[in-house]
Amino acid sequence: MEAGLAQIREEVLRRNPGETEFFQAVDEVFNSLGPVMKRHPEYVEHGILRRMVEPERQITFRVPWVDDKGVVKINRGFRVQFNSALGPYKGGIRFHPSVYLGIMKFLGFEQVFKNALTGMPIGGGKGGADFNPSGRSEGEIMRFCQSFITELYRHIGEHTDVPAGDIGVGTREIGFMFGQYRRITNRFEAGAFTGKGVSWGGSLVRPEATGNGVVMFANQMLKTIGTTLDGATVTVSGSGNVAINAINYATSLGATVLTASDSSGYVVDEQGIDIELLRQIKITERARISEYAERRERAHFVSDGSIWEVPVDVAIPCATQNELSGDDAATLVMNGVKAVAEGANMPSTHQAINTFREAGVLFGPGKAANAGGVATSALEMQQNASRDTWSFDYTHSRLEENMEDIHDRCIATAEDFGHPGDYVIGANIAGFLKVADAMIAQGVV
Ligand code: GLU
Repeated sequence: MEAGLAQIREEVLRRNPGETEFFQAVDEVFNSLGPVMKRHPEYVEHGILRRMVEPERQITFRVPWVDDKGVVKINRGFRVQFNSALGPYKGGIRFHPSVYLGIMKFLGFEQVFKNALTGMPIGGGKGGADFNPSGRSEGEIMRFCQSFITELYRHIGEHTDVPAGDIGVGTREIGFMFGQYRRITNRFEAGAFTGKGVSWGGSLVRPEATGNGVVMFANQMLKTIGTTLDGATVTVSGSGNVAINAINYATSLGATVLTASDSSGYVVDEQGIDIELLRQIKITERARISEYAERRERAHFVSDGSIWEVPVDVAIPCATQNELSGDDAATLVMNGVKAVAEGANMPSTHQAINTFREAGVLFGPGKAANAGGVATSALEMQQNASRDTWSFDYTHSRLEENMEDIHDRCIATAEDFGHPGDYVIGANIAGFLKVADAMIAQGVV
């Protein structure tokens, strides 16, 4: 690594103790920036790197609420407003017991580059709480969302910071948060959140966008080697919104998706996952994935072992960070995987990414491959700003164009900086340049 980059990397490690995921995300970007620093020493003079690794603002707050038994509960809420050089902070809210500042900062940092890559006028941020929605009643979820917004409302707004969903936060939770925001502010400010219900300012295609987008990206990568998803076998991990839509869209393009998973294990269905059954179990009933195998004779459930042991042409990790290790990557490579597209944020470890790249596997990093969600959030903001509603087909075609642009931008940038075909380098450099140039133009702020 170039000396200037290495020094700042060490500072990030020292100044953010214990925040391993944040350091991993920074390290991953810095590993790509060598060729940029050689060509553009001005970025060092302007202190761009040191500014980029320090969030503009981070808010931590108490979220008190009362459960159904009358017991007072306390969670910790966060919003990390990372960079607003390109537009209002934009990024999801995650409710998961693992949430702490290091995860919020990794997600916020990734979001800055991802959002830049979409070409849309959005900065990057992320929020959430260490709240576990699993097993909670609808009343408890609503009270939690209301308490969360009772503090957060003062920090967000359509021109300031626009939250959306992430793990544990979907249309239902956005509804409760938007309702509380509207009540406190006495404003119907549709553009203050994305991922809203369609009848109250949401965009068609937004629920499907991340899952469909990652499949579009995988297909575009495959086209560069003269093939497509049609007839391919695919592993998808996860069974949340991203995974379900990725399975559905890949199937519609002619692929056979063999798997789905949750934290208890995974199911293999050799004839292809039955999307309606999966939806019924995971969305309607909010039950365990093992139920799928119970109700479908030809499928089996695996509670130990790794989902990545299933031999496939294409792997699409859609569960969570660091779910795919170096060993898992080696297994996929050994079994002949052709392409990997990340639907989740940072699902592959550093070793896994290197294993794929060394083996010449097409590898689409999350900040490019899963950008369809936030890109469609930006389309929702456009509709809200013009008080318009677009058709499903028009919105879908905008998403498709956007994913193609992102893919081509990665390819062109990787080529320009001497690493043809390397989507990691392409995505990191293209995102970085856009943000860095805007920061220089706007002075030391
Ligand atoms: N949470 C999603 C992501 O990781 C979507 C964010 C958004 O739509 O603002 O990109």
